Amino acid sequence: MKIGALKENYEGEARVAVTPASAAHLQKLGHEVFVESGAGARAGFSNEDYEKAGVTVARTAAEVIGAVDIVAKVRQPSDGEIGQMREGQTLISFFYPAQSPELLEKAKEQGITAIAMDMVPRISRAQKMDALSSMANIAGYRSVIEAANNFGRFFTGQVTAAGKVPPAKILVVGAGVAGLAAIGTATSLGAQVHAFDVRPEVAEQIESMGAEFVYLDFEEQAQDGSATGGYAAPSSPEFREKQLEKFRELAPQMDVVITTALIPGRDAPVLWTKDMVEAMKPGSVIVDLAAEKGGNCELTIPDERIVTENGVIIVGYTDFASRMGAQASELYGNNIRHFMTDLTPSKDGVVVHDMEDDVIRGATVTHDHDITFPPPPPKIA
Ligand code: NAD
Repeated sequence: MKIGALKENYEGEARVAVTPASAAHLQKLGHEVFVESGAGARAGFSNEDYEKAGVTVARTAAEVIGAVDIVAKVRQPSDGEIGQMREGQTLISFFYPAQSPELLEKAKEQGITAIAMDMVPRISRAQKMDALSSMANIAGYRSVIEAANNFGRFFTGQVTAAGKVPPAKILVVGAGVAGLAAIGTATSLGAQVHAFDVRPEVAEQIESMGAEFVYLDFEEQAQDGSATGGYAAPSSPEFREKQLEKFRELAPQMDVVITTALIPGRDAPVLWTKDMVEAMKPGSVIVDLAAEKGGNCELTIPDERIVTENGVIIVGYTDFASRMGAQASELYGNNIRHFMTDLTPSKDGVVVHDMEDDVIRGATVTHDHDITFPPPPPKIA
């Protein structure tokens, strides 16, 4: 089959869905690979790099869409892009079907098979295709780099001839994939890291990374916050009150706060309130990885970096993975080529869209003029 990546048209997006390296793997599966001219430029891949990898570089998006069976993207397709697709074609990209009913309807009407990379089930076998995790890992790392860039001091403690420097104190709120990556990065830079999550089972993981789990004085901590599948559920009002009380106590002590707390299908919980920001020292930094879902910090403005009256810097960017375009493209490209491996069982360039397969079924949101979202739960964990 023919698979082609488009140049992302979302402002500031630096990622690309197919890299020269992932194209080589796709070719080994028997596929012919296309990219739109300039698609990899912001991730550091030139047209020549693609050509050397045996990829056909087409001048426009329309040419790619016209030539291929499978269109690969990072972001959701624009109206123009999906409008140019034809019946029987496959789209593979982030899709967010629950938040995008119109796009789902459009894909269905046009007879497009849409594979949502954000719907890959989180079962062991599918970890190599789990684009949400690969991007969250990068976002977590990058959040610490942004924090360090905005913080006017060392992260590590030092004893120098010019004076003794204490280590920076960092609080990470939410220890999912992004939070754990942030904890790992911050400890490796020598900071003193504290972390909190409503799921107490992550305490051991946090402590094994050299950080300190923030315990609440709350009897039911062991039961609160954990929902099925390792995801968080909204906290009870009593639990939330205890959590905020603890954060109020920590606010004046922390140099950096990185928030990553999310609850699937909801707006981000507000956990770092205005009065906590006001209690922080001037020069402290908050990086809010939940900004896209409204933010964990009450004062976050999505896509902006602001400085409060008391000198606290709040970073609300929503494109952390894209800020590391080369790395993110490499990992996302790998996620896609692993998905294509499952779609090409005989490695002969023939795609078999097996709707009995848990991973393919889970990620397929439209197929055969039908909306196939939400999927049934996977049969195997
Ligand atoms: P997420 O992005 O949905 O949420 C981030 C974190 O915020 C979670 O750890 C959540 O517990 C926490 N949180 C929610 N409300 C909070 C609050 N009020 N205060 C503090 N923290 C709060 O999570 P994620 O990174 O997608 O990971 C969710 C789970 O999925 C984890 O258990 C992870 O290990 C698991 N996972 C499994 C696989 C796999 O098996 N293949 C892959 C990736 C993730």
